[in-house]
Order: sequence, then C-alpha cells, then structure tokens
Amino acid sequence: MPITGIYGPDDFAGRPQGQTPTLPRTAPARTEAALPMPSLEWTDEVEHATAPLYERVKHVIPPIEWPLMAPTIKAINELKQARGAVILAHNYQAPEIFHCVADIGGDSLQLAVEATKVKAGIIVQCGVHFMAETSKLLNPDKTVLIPDSRAGCSLAASITGADVRLLRERFPGVPVVAYVNTSAEVKAEVDICCTSSNAVQVVESLNAPTVIFLPDRYLATYVASKTDVKIIAWKGACEVHERFKGEELRALREADPSVQIIAHPECPPDVLAEADFTGSTAHMINWVREKRPRRLVMITECSMADNVRAELPDVEMLRPCNLCPHMKRITLSNILESLLTLGEEVTIDPALAERARRSVERMINLKN
Ligand code: SF4
Repeated sequence: MPITGIYGPDDFAGRPQGQTPTLPRTAPARTEAALPMPSLEWTDEVEHATAPLYERVKHVIPPIEWPLMAPTIKAINELKQARGAVILAHNYQAPEIFHCVADIGGDSLQLAVEATKVKAGIIVQCGVHFMAETSKLLNPDKTVLIPDSRAGCSLAASITGADVRLLRERFPGVPVVAYVNTSAEVKAEVDICCTSSNAVQVVESLNAPTVIFLPDRYLATYVASKTDVKIIAWKGACEVHERFKGEELRALREADPSVQIIAHPECPPDVLAEADFTGSTAHMINWVREKRPRRLVMITECSMADNVRAELPDVEMLRPCNLCPHMKRITLSNILESLLTLGEEVTIDPALAERARRSVERMINLKN
C-alpha cells in the first residue's frame, strides 16, 4: 500500500531553528603512537609480493595503474599485521580497497554482524561515518578508526535525534524503525534498526498496525509495497540512488531487450518499476552469482559493479551508475595514514551509545 504520511523538518512548527545533525565525533590522531612512513617505491619485491592481489582485480584495474597502488597496498597489509588491526570495507569501496586490503567486505548488515565477531583490537572502517559508529557501538572497548571522518551520508544527515522526538510527540505510541544509515544520536531515539536486507522483516517483527520508518522515503515506499503495516516516512533520500531515472532504464532495455536490470531499494519507484530484481547490495551480489546474466545494469554505486566484475568477469556491466562522493573519500593513502597515526578514532558518548546499541542489537538478534 502507499505510505500513510511523509514528514520532514518543515512539518514541525516547534522544531528549533538552525538545528543541524550532530557532526561526527572523532578523537585526534595519537601522535605519540605514530609509526614512520614506509617506502612506497615500485620495486621487483613489491611486484612479486602483490602479484596474487593483482590477479583478483586485473579485470577492473589496468596494468599501468597497478604500480601506483601496489606499494601502498603492500604497506597497508604489513601495517595491519603490526598493529593487530582488521579492515572492514563496504561494497561501495573501490576494488583496490575491497579486494586488496579488506579483511571483511559486505553490506551494512554484514559489516555490523561481522564487527561483533572481530578479535583484533583495532578496526579500520572503510565506509562512511555511520558505519564506523555502528562498529564502535558493537565494539565499545576497541579502537575504531575512520580514514576520513568527513565521509558522511545524505541519509544520515537528513534527520536528528530531536526530529525523532518530534515524530514521537506527533504519533504517540507508534514504534520507530531507523535504517542503519543514521547517526548514533538517531539510533538512540528509535526502537530498532534495519538495513535494506531486512527492512520488511524488521517492520513486521514489531506487530504494530503502523510504524514510523526513517529516514529514506524511497526505502519506506518500497517497504510499504511489501507489507500491510501502515508506514509513516521521513523526507530523506540517498543522493546517489535518487538520481537514477526510470526513463534511462527503459532506453537501455529498448536498445537491448536481453539486458537484465537490478536495483537498490533506495531508488525512486519509477526506477524500481523497471528492475528485474530489487534488493540490498548483498542480495544483488548473490543474484548475480546465481543468475550469471550476460549483460547487466546494476543500479547502485559504481564501485559495486567493479567489485562484482572483478569476481565475475564474464558478466558485462553496462552503465549507468553513480559515484558516492562520501564513500570515495576513503582512499589507499588515508587508510595507510590511519594505520600509521591511529587516527581518526570514532568516539561516542557512553550513555548515548548504550541506547543506540540496543536498537542495533535488537535488529541483529531478530530470528531469520
Ligand atoms: S550511497 Fe547514499 S546511502 Fe550510501 S553512503 Fe552514499 S549517500 Fe549515503
């Protein structure tokens, strides 16, 4: 059914003026713990040591570019060992990060779950800030680093904890589900979190006739189409996925009717109407592994198509795709810097973290 209502900052007369989402909190690098910069020269030894890694990405990284990346990749992998660190990378990270330095890759849910199993004392989060916060929530005693704390997210920036309180005043007794693409401050105000993999399941788990679902209006619309629960949405959107247009997909299909189109549920409804399959990044990857389409349009962030093509080079990827400028703030250079200086460390107020953690753990503990 259509969403029951949609609200944003302008719909609350009492909303404090000039209110902006809480900026990410990070501690400065610990200069006393800094290690010296290793050599980043392209040598025979570097070429030999990184040859198995290049095999993984040779279909998406031209040979001419590899000597520029390989010395940093080798240095990162050696520093990881020296620091006792683990690198988590989201599916939207570039192939040289996702396939060559990450220990664990996946979507938000996979990373959140894997973060709970990590034994290493240091987690380097290659993704955006809310992901690093989620890792910190689930690993309060570990050091969680983000290579660039400016790596934000248009969804996380669209809503504050105070906005959730205003929604609760407007709809007393209605439970609130927050997509994990929210700040810890917002997670602390809601009943449970969800990802795009489990959003429908989480909404239905509440056994309520109406649920507030925030902040992504398009994911809310998608969830509403899959359940009888009435959905009240927030006016947030992913700046990457909302740019796709249904008409460009129709044009691609007219040019080649055999093409397969798969899309992320953060896309607008006219885009999802053209898709052969809609799912989270993890579900999309599994779909491609299983179906092995000859020609594929993957309607999501560009690096995910590159990461899938590195693994399945027989699948021809057609554009369009859109880059996430926030995800692209994470680079090999700042991952190396992060390991050298132990910066920037993600910090969360302990009392707020306690409440936010409950919302994430409630999601993780839901039975499949
Ligand atoms: S792709 Fe969209 S939802 Fe994901 S981090 Fe970028 S802006 Fe946020």
